[in-house]
Amino acid sequence: MSKKHKRFETTVIHEGYDSQKMLGSLATPLFQTSTYTFESAEQGERRFAGEEEGYAYSRLGNPTVTVLGERIAALEKGERGLAFGSGMAAVSAVLIALTKTGDHVLCSSGLYGCTFGLLTMMNDKYNITHDFSAMESKEGIRLRIKPETTCIYVETPINPTMKLIDLQMVAEVAREYNIPVVVDNTFSSPYLQRPLEQGCDVVVHSATKYIGGHGDVVAGLVAGKKDFLDSVAMTTQKDMGGIISPFDAWLLLRGLKTLPIRMDRHCDNAEKIFEKLRNHSKVANVYYPGDESHPDYPIREKQMKRGGGLISFEIHGGKVEAQQFLNKLSFLKIAVSLGDAETLIQHPASMTHAVVPEEARQEMRITDELIRLSVGLEAWEDIWEDLDQALNLL
Ligand SMILES: *Cc1c(COP(=O)(O)O)cnc(C)c1O
Repeated sequence: MSKKHKRFETTVIHEGYDSQKMLGSLATPLFQTSTYTFESAEQGERRFAGEEEGYAYSRLGNPTVTVLGERIAALEKGERGLAFGSGMAAVSAVLIALTKTGDHVLCSSGLYGCTFGLLTMMNDKYNITHDFSAMESKEGIRLRIKPETTCIYVETPINPTMKLIDLQMVAEVAREYNIPVVVDNTFSSPYLQRPLEQGCDVVVHSATKYIGGHGDVVAGLVAGKKDFLDSVAMTTQKDMGGIISPFDAWLLLRGLKTLPIRMDRHCDNAEKIFEKLRNHSKVANVYYPGDESHPDYPIREKQMKRGGGLISFEIHGGKVEAQQFLNKLSFLKIAVSLGDAETLIQHPASMTHAVVPEEARQEMRITDELIRLSVGLEAWEDIWEDLDQALNLL
């Protein structure tokens, strides 16, 4: 199937798989195998020399995983895609591929907690330094770029305050210096936002979230240019070994098929819940990228199809009240992660961002009264009734 002529909703179901090559199997077969047999010693030699196409060992490639890679590449408009055993395996493979001792990474101020942890470790162990920028203007970014900067790493919307960064603007500055831009697109999924179309170079995903969508897989994906992903496949993926299991790749292919309809329902529900939260007397602030009065709304309109399914809000009070509120919920689940059918709610300061030092947390505006909500696919009225009753008990 040609990538160019099909729409997102078709690509997400068909790309990268030809049933006629697999005995007509409609579902992508699960190749649950660690290794592959050669018909002769010479064939084995040719496979390892890269002279003959074909599989040799599942850390180097697996047919089920190949389909997933082609599918994410097509959805993100990249030339190649790779799958990993977790979002962090994907993030670390990309960051390590782009840096060596003495290099510098410029990050958006506001990062997933473990990405922050990884950068801290790279600094402490390998002297790969990093800085943060709000990335609100070209000048602001230029001021933070150093001669040794080899990577710009961006998350947008920023977890959990939902600030947005103009990806096209970042890509334009980066091009002046010939520095690749990596975007963590987990919160939006390729259905809502495609950073490569905005001029960025590499997209990383925790596929654990919206891409899998059912809360049953931990996995990561990367998409981008062929040359770069070839080098990642041959070095930081093959030699560090953070590969996905064939079964998890199979589950992701299954989950992905409904991504567009799931995302639209997540967005529909989140828009309703956002309106309700913002008018509730027990709620102080609500952060949602779909908010038309938000200062970042023009960026949202430029690069995101809709506002997504994540809302953060601050209640009146502090940590005690935030924990009380969570404990009063009746069917909504207290859990980290996001993007599942179930609505998930968590307290960032003590959960996802507990690893971030207090001072950095304050800078990221992760207050003790901040709650993050991943709006699920249940009836929005039921989600609201549960939130409302728990808020009213405060
Ligand atoms: C969850 C998450 C990650 C890490 O992914 P894992 O699959 O848990 O390893 C990275 N970035 C963002 C934005 C995430 O939400």
